[in-house]
Amino acid sequence: IFNPAIGEKIAEVELASKATVEMAIKSSEKAFQKWSKTTPINRARILAKFKDLLIQNMNDLAVMVSEQHGKTIADAKGSIQRGIEVVEYATGITDSLKGDHSANVGTNVDSHTLRQPLGVCAGITPFNFPAMIPLWMFPMAIACGNTFILKPSEQDPMTANKLAELFLEAGAPDNVLQVIHGGKDQVDMLLKHPDIKAISFVGSVSVGQYIYKTGTEYLKRVQSFAGAKNHMVIMPDANKAKTIDSLVGSSVGAAGQRCMAISVAVFVGSSKEWIEDLKKEMEMVKPGPWDSEESGFGPLISPQAKDRVLKLIEKGKEEAKCLIDGSKCDIEGFPNGNWVGTTLFTKVKTDSEIYKTEIFGPVLLCIEVETLEDAIELINANPYGNGTSIFTASGRSARKYRHEIEVGQVGINVPIPVPMPFFSFTGWKQSFYGDLH
Ligand code: NAD
Repeated sequence: IFNPAIGEKIAEVELASKATVEMAIKSSEKAFQKWSKTTPINRARILAKFKDLLIQNMNDLAVMVSEQHGKTIADAKGSIQRGIEVVEYATGITDSLKGDHSANVGTNVDSHTLRQPLGVCAGITPFNFPAMIPLWMFPMAIACGNTFILKPSEQDPMTANKLAELFLEAGAPDNVLQVIHGGKDQVDMLLKHPDIKAISFVGSVSVGQYIYKTGTEYLKRVQSFAGAKNHMVIMPDANKAKTIDSLVGSSVGAAGQRCMAISVAVFVGSSKEWIEDLKKEMEMVKPGPWDSEESGFGPLISPQAKDRVLKLIEKGKEEAKCLIDGSKCDIEGFPNGNWVGTTLFTKVKTDSEIYKTEIFGPVLLCIEVETLEDAIELINANPYGNGTSIFTASGRSARKYRHEIEVGQVGINVPIPVPMPFFSFTGWKQSFYGDLH
C-alpha cells in the first residue's frame, strides 16, 4: 500500500488464498445460522454501538483514508460522515423489517409476508471511498440478519480492517462481518461460490459488467454500481458565482476521483461567457498533501492512474481547446506524489475520446449549446446515467430537466446529488447493472 502523496510504501496487505476465502465463506455461513435468529432489536443495538464507535474514531479513520487515498482530511471526514448516516439508518431496521398482513383473504384465512435474510452476502468496493462505500453495504445487510464478506479495493484496503475491528468492538459476534483482501481471483471465488447469495459491487464499468454477468450466471442477486460521466447544465439565468463555485468544487474535488464528480459543463446560450471566470477560479485551486489547509484536493491514487489521466490530457489537446493544462504539476516537498493539476478543456466534441471516457482526474470539459432542449438531447445520448445537475433560476427549466433527463440522480442548483441513506443510489444506463437499486 502506497501513500500517493509521497509515493512510498506504508503497509503491506496479505492477499487471501483460495483456502482462506473458502474458510471465510464457511464460517460466515455458520455465523448466519445464529445471527439470522438474533432479534432485530438486538442486531440494531450492535449497530447503534458501532455508530458511536465510528463517531469516536472519526479522526483516526479519516487520517487512515487520507494517508492511503490522498484526499484532504476534510473530504475524508465528510465521506465517513456519510457512511455513519447509513449505520444510523440501519439502527432503525426493526421498522423496515415488518411484513404485511391481510385478514380474511379467504373465509377464515389470513395471509402475511415475512422479510427474511438471504444468507452470506458479499461486497466488492472501489478505491475512491474506502470507508463510505463499505459502510453503504454491510451495515444494512447485517442489520437485516445476513452475514457479510467484504472485499475492499487492494489499493487502499486498511480502512476496511479498522471498520471490522470496530464492528467487533461494538459487540458483533465473530464472523458476522469478515474482510478478505485481493483482486480478481478472490472476487471470482465469491462470484462463483454457491453459499454466497447476493453481491453488491461498486467500481468501473468494465468490471461492473463482468460482476453482473458472472454473478447472475451463478444465480445470485447482484447490484452493480459502475462508472460515470456527469454533466452540469448551466442556464444563463443561474446565479453565476454560485454556479462557478459549485462547478469547480464538484469537478476537481478529490482530484475528480468521484463517481458523482461533474466532468462535463454544458453551457446554454449566453452562459458560455462565464467560461473565462470559471478558468480564473479553477486556476486558484491547487492540489497538495491531505493535512495542509491550502490543498484543494489530493494526488491521484497511483502512478498508473496518473499516467492514464496524462495520456487523456494529451489526447484532449488534439481534440479540443486546452484552457488550463494541469499535466505538469510539481508540489514542493512531494516530488514523488501522483499530482495532476486542474485541467480545463473547451470546444469539446461528443465524439472525442476525452468526452467518451471517464477520465477520473481533475479535468473539466466544457460544451456549448444553444437551448435547454439541446442540452437534454446531448446528455440523454451519453451512455452513462449516474448523476447530473442543472443550475437555473427558472422553476420551469428545472422541472423540464428533472422530467426529461435520462439520468438517475438529478441535482437542481446542487452540484453532487448524492442521496441520503433512506433513498437508494439510483444510477441508470451504463452506470448501473441490476434491478435492485
Ligand atoms: P475497479 O473496477 O478497478 O475496482 C473495483 C473493485 O473491483 C476492486 O475491489 C477491485 O479489486 C475489483 N476488481 C478490479 N478488477 C477486477 C476484475 N477484473 N474482476 C473482478 N474484480 C475486479 O474500480 P476502481 O478503480 O477501484 O474505482 C473507480 C471506479 O468506480 C470509477 O469508474 C467510478 O466511477 C466507480 N464508482 C462508482 C460509484 C457508483 O456508485 N456508481 C461509486 C464510486 C465509484
